[in-house]
Amino acid sequence: MSAYRTLEALGDLTGKKVLVRLDLNVPVDNGVVTDATRIERSLPTINDILKGGGIPVLLSHFGRPKGQYVPEMSLRVVVPALEKALGKTVTFVEKPSRAELDALPAGSVVLVENTRFAPQEEKNDPGMAQFLASLGDAYVNDAFSCAHRAHASTEGVAHHLPSAAGRSMQKELDALSAALTTPQRPVLAVVGGAKVSTKLDLLGNLSGKVDQIVIGGGMANTFLAALGHDVAKSLCEHDLLDTAREIIETAKKNGCEIILPVDVTVAKEFAANAPNRACGLDELEADDMILDIGPKTIEALKTRLSDVKTVVWNGPFGAFEIEPFDTGTNTVAGLVAKATKAGEMISVAGGGDTVAALNRAGAAEDFTYISTAGGAFLEWLEGKELPGVEVLRA
Ligand code: AMP
Repeated sequence: MSAYRTLEALGDLTGKKVLVRLDLNVPVDNGVVTDATRIERSLPTINDILKGGGIPVLLSHFGRPKGQYVPEMSLRVVVPALEKALGKTVTFVEKPSRAELDALPAGSVVLVENTRFAPQEEKNDPGMAQFLASLGDAYVNDAFSCAHRAHASTEGVAHHLPSAAGRSMQKELDALSAALTTPQRPVLAVVGGAKVSTKLDLLGNLSGKVDQIVIGGGMANTFLAALGHDVAKSLCEHDLLDTAREIIETAKKNGCEIILPVDVTVAKEFAANAPNRACGLDELEADDMILDIGPKTIEALKTRLSDVKTVVWNGPFGAFEIEPFDTGTNTVAGLVAKATKAGEMISVAGGGDTVAALNRAGAAEDFTYISTAGGAFLEWLEGKELPGVEVLRA
């Protein structure tokens, strides 16, 4: 059972114009779409509307035109890739009108020009929301990646029409709730990446929801320093040591265990294949930099993971872009992927560099769900309400 309205809630779609907010902000090079993943992810919703006899009227932003017409940010460029993926013609409209849409034959698919060409879009202007609503009989949001923004096409319009989550949004919401709202316990969160300062809200929210948080990456150094270890030349936010201690205290009160590295891999420079060694937390030389977790930490995580039922992952364990400092991320990601594949665990990951790190580790395919939603995924991990999702609640 979903907590959100889905396409089924819209009833019979025969002859209806169904506005569909997608994220068609795809990479384009020389006028050609170079990665059609986002287009492919939108197909189940478009096809289900067509099967139901409706006419999908697709809305999306493309780039950041800042409320003006910018020719190179026209959505017209995605039409060929969309037609190829759908196997049918797409009608592109620059300035849509209800009369024009009503004249279209059954089975049509319409793509409307970049919503962000209108200065009212990002202001969630009520007039624009009403205008968009006048074009359709129902509204579907299938752009989870845009759901953290209350714009006319992601939030405002939903107040004026019967509205629902599309298939892709539904899949994302189901995966996220399986990971944090109604998870199988124990739940372990991996929080890595460069800086604590960008993850304060995330750590605060997770410590009230999960059973264990493993802290890795550059941000672990700030925690280690807060506990009195000398992290030498490592990336460390020395002004946040009190904050790190407060996070540890809050987590303890919430019954959440914070797990830090017990050993580290260090080098003298941030470079691929820089001479390196594993060492204990109090064995750093003055010019050492921590660039990854160490082998004892990896072993300890392996043991710990054998009891865990759900993993939520954001951020790498080390400088994952350069060998051999990708070892911690690759090894632990591999363990999570294997346990997930064996049906022993649910694993959900996303945000920032995480998708790239897990792809590089060759682990992404076996995770239960990898969110490519970036900012929206992070805001959800931070426990924030996403306006584009709230408006679809059942
Ligand atoms: P984020 O964008 O916060 O997820 O951080 C990802 C970045 O953190 C990557 O570019 C990593 O190279 C970097 N990173 C992870 N661990 C370390 C570390 N120990 N020292 C320096 N940078 C790191």
